[in-house]
Amino acid sequence: MVQINIVSLQKNSHIMLYCQQCGHQNNDDARFCSRCGSSFVAANQQRQIQEQPENPFAYKPPQTQHQMPPTYLWQSIVVTLLCCLPLGVIAIIFASQVESRYNIGDIEGAQTSSNRARNLCIWSLVAGLVGGILYFILIFVVEIGGAFLGI
Ligand SMILES: [Zn+2]
Repeated sequence: MVQINIVSLQKNSHIMLYCQQCGHQNNDDARFCSRCGSSFVAANQQRQIQEQPENPFAYKPPQTQHQMPPTYLWQSIVVTLLCCLPLGVIAIIFASQVESRYNIGDIEGAQTSSNRARNLCIWSLVAGLVGGILYFILIFVVEIGGAFLGI
């Protein structure tokens, strides 16, 4: 945990931050002491709660170092339009889950949806290619066969 090394003082409806390391007074929006560089983050979190006593359990975005996994949203839309519609629609659903799950802090769920969206994009791309090839083979066989049999 970050050690709380700052005291917050209310003065003339203005909150001053005094560094407990060196006593230096800083702007109330400072994140670090301008003299010694001590972190104010813990004190700022405490101050936010003090400024909103009516709702101390207000939703705060999860603080995490995780990057949001790729959504594969535009890839899903492309394969839906070009290749395999059913698989592409499912891929879009998973792609849209990535961001919403990430926003509620469900990193693993977002990663899972990201992986599923990517796999569905690949599969629908493969399905579209295979389907296209089979279609042309079918046309070719029918044409050649028809010509050969004199139909
Ligand atoms: Zn300081």
